[in-house]
Amino acid sequence: MRSIPNKTIYDVIISGAGPVGLFLACELALTKCSVLILEKAEDPHSPLKQLPFGIRGLSAHTIESLYRRGLLNELQIHKRLKNPHQNAKQGAQRQVGHFAGIPFLEGNVDTSQWKYRLPNSTPTSLISEMQELETILARRAEALGVEIRRGLAITGFQQTEDGVTVQSEDEFFQSKWLVGCDGSRSVVRKIGGFEFAGTEPEFTGYTTKMDIADPEKLSPGRIVTPTGMYMQSQPGYVVIQDFDGGAFHGSDKPITLEHVQEVLRRVSGTDVTINALHTATTWTDRARQATTYRNGRVLLAGDAAHIHAPLGGQGLNLGLGDAMNLGWKLAATINGKAPEGLLDTYYTERYPIGAQVLDWSRAQVAIMGLSPEARALNAIFRDLMNTHDGATYFAARVWGIFTHYDLDGSHPLTGYSVPNFELEDGTTIGNLMHEGKGILLDFGTDAALKRLADKYPNQIKYVSGPAKEQLGLNAVLIRPDGIIAWATDSDPDYREFERALARWFV
Ligand SMILES: Cc1cc2nc3c(=O)[nH]c(=O)nc-3n(C[C@H](O)[C@H](O)[C@H](O)COP(=O)(O)OP(=O)(O)OC[C@H]3O[C@@H](n4cnc5c(N)ncnc54)[C@H](O)[C@@H]3O)c2cc1C
Repeated sequence: MRSIPNKTIYDVIISGAGPVGLFLACELALTKCSVLILEKAEDPHSPLKQLPFGIRGLSAHTIESLYRRGLLNELQIHKRLKNPHQNAKQGAQRQVGHFAGIPFLEGNVDTSQWKYRLPNSTPTSLISEMQELETILARRAEALGVEIRRGLAITGFQQTEDGVTVQSEDEFFQSKWLVGCDGSRSVVRKIGGFEFAGTEPEFTGYTTKMDIADPEKLSPGRIVTPTGMYMQSQPGYVVIQDFDGGAFHGSDKPITLEHVQEVLRRVSGTDVTINALHTATTWTDRARQATTYRNGRVLLAGDAAHIHAPLGGQGLNLGLGDAMNLGWKLAATINGKAPEGLLDTYYTERYPIGAQVLDWSRAQVAIMGLSPEARALNAIFRDLMNTHDGATYFAARVWGIFTHYDLDGSHPLTGYSVPNFELEDGTTIGNLMHEGKGILLDFGTDAALKRLADKYPNQIKYVSGPAKEQLGLNAVLIRPDGIIAWATDSDPDYREFERALARWFV
């Protein structure tokens, strides 16, 4: 591969303008890194990104991240939509999520068990549309100076100690870092030689829009049959799961009307007739994760780093969490403001979260299976989810309430997302995070704490004064991604505070 002299050398090239690549670009550009995104598709619009196919559930951490960057209010579609889980009623209670298709009910979720959630917290879940989310993120990225070039697929790259030369057919680009956000079939992951380890699929899933001649032949709701499952969410919008070991999805065969009709007839046990197939896409429960997220100057994020079944809707949330975690660390590395080993914590923090999500999806597949054992387990889960503790546990997992990183620190909140503290003038901690800096929130006015934080003027903002509800805390050090790096309920241990500062900032 040749490199072209005298061309712009970007700080970062990102492969893929999906939600993860776009959000990462915004995070990097916030601290003035120069970013080029190369995107394979010429047209950012696609029916698969639009409703109803493009519907995506956002969970607590994603919603907090968007809020902390001033983007939450730009999401509009959820204001027009009802949560699909809420359409179905069970008695007088609303369904607010599911595990393996088994709903948990709002009335059973006891949020008072989540000790550190404040009443003004952002929602725990929200319905969004991929198209809208990508449009908002692309607009923000461009406003921050990110260059997005569409219709250019990355076809190769080569890295040296100093940088990466990236190829798209016969064009070459140079950068200090390359991040693969190019989805489940990531070229960056493949060319970069990343190991992608995991488990093989049990089924091929189909998401389709079709005209059905005799829709009354399909039963309403989610129907489990001896050969699979199907669900008609609205007339003509049918999701099918065919337990074929993932063979069709892996075959790269075209998704024809005849094929979908054969699968639907077999799975539904009817002779239903499809008149026209408008849109169809397939997916599986293949669950794989890159065994490392970094190889030299090349990193992975989002679906490029991990894939799993879309059951329970966690992939986008996982990927946006990667971007929020990686953005400030990579930017600090580029800007010469990273303590030793900072970038490595991207992998050590995010890999375990990804592994948990893969297991969450495997557990769902296990109890959705068609064997008598799977059906028996399914019935037990259904009973558990109808209890208060069961529903509260499942809600916390699905909404990401318990997500935390294993950081050193004596306070139980260390490693968790910061509660949305509100100062007496009405400013919330989320409002203070738009610039992507760390924050020392000092509910008193401790001159020594201020002096220590002031040693990092470009990285840490010092904020003091009482909050309306302090949850027993006295001071909190917050990383740029909203994670608590240090906290104290009483008089500060200044040595511990200094150690926390030195661990995350330079
Ligand atoms: C049916 C379904 C329902 C889902 N529901 C949910 C849900 O409710 N909640 C949730 O959290 N997740 C959900 N997911 C998962 C979620 O959509 C993905 O995890 C998310 O889109 C991943 O984002 P990404 O940016 O990593 O990858 P992608 O969205 O796949 O974007 C990758 C981008 O890279 C581009 N690209 C590919 N190759 C190249 C190349 N060589 N060079 C340059 N560009 C390239 C692609 O064109 C694309 O634009 C669902 C998935 C499916 C299939």
